[in-house]
Amino acid sequence: MPLPHLPRRTHEELLMETAYIALGSNLENPRHQLALGVAALARLPHTRLTAQSLLYRSAPVGYVSQPDFVNAIAAITTDLAPRALLDELLAIEREHGRVREVPNGPRTLDLDIALYGERVINEPGLTVPHPRMAQRAFVIVPLAEIAPSLRIPGTALTARAALRQLRDPAQVRLLG
Ligand code: ADP
Ligand code: MG
Repeated sequence: MPLPHLPRRTHEELLMETAYIALGSNLENPRHQLALGVAALARLPHTRLTAQSLLYRSAPVGYVSQPDFVNAIAAITTDLAPRALLDELLAIEREHGRVREVPNGPRTLDLDIALYGERVINEPGLTVPHPRMAQRAFVIVPLAEIAPSLRIPGTALTARAALRQLRDPAQVRLLG
């Protein structure tokens, strides 16, 4: 019996890693900022955008007197090493006029590497998986939407299991 036809993947594509990027914005038309952010991810060198979640609204964490956030997760496959990917994300943030004033403060566009393949990275300026992501509803809710069976390295949890364990999943709502 002939095998079913499968789309062919090149050698380069097979070597690419899958990374999950958490996007957030609470200034200057957040939905538009996220759309621009996703478009910028799709244009990164040696990178393909493979999935994106719906948009979610979440209450700010830490510094609370600021607007609600709009959050999403994008999946990419990339040849960029983690540090090169981080540099590209920080450059996109700068292009979108991001100014760092208050820690956890308002931002036009925040792009974090939530996961990079199965890697666990603890270097100055780069922690992957992103710190406390398994407890953060604004990361886990969109991640569970696009990759429920994904295992979060460094924990025993899939995205779906992390979703079940969230203390207050309702604090993150689908944007209408
Ligand atoms: P946060 O996203 O934690 O609210 P910032 O966006 O201001 O804070 O990021 C501050 C620094 O966090 C960045 O300059 C970057 O070096 C560092 N950082 C550490 N790990 C990551 C990661 N996984 N993704 C993005 N930035 C990270
Ligand atoms: Mg960030």
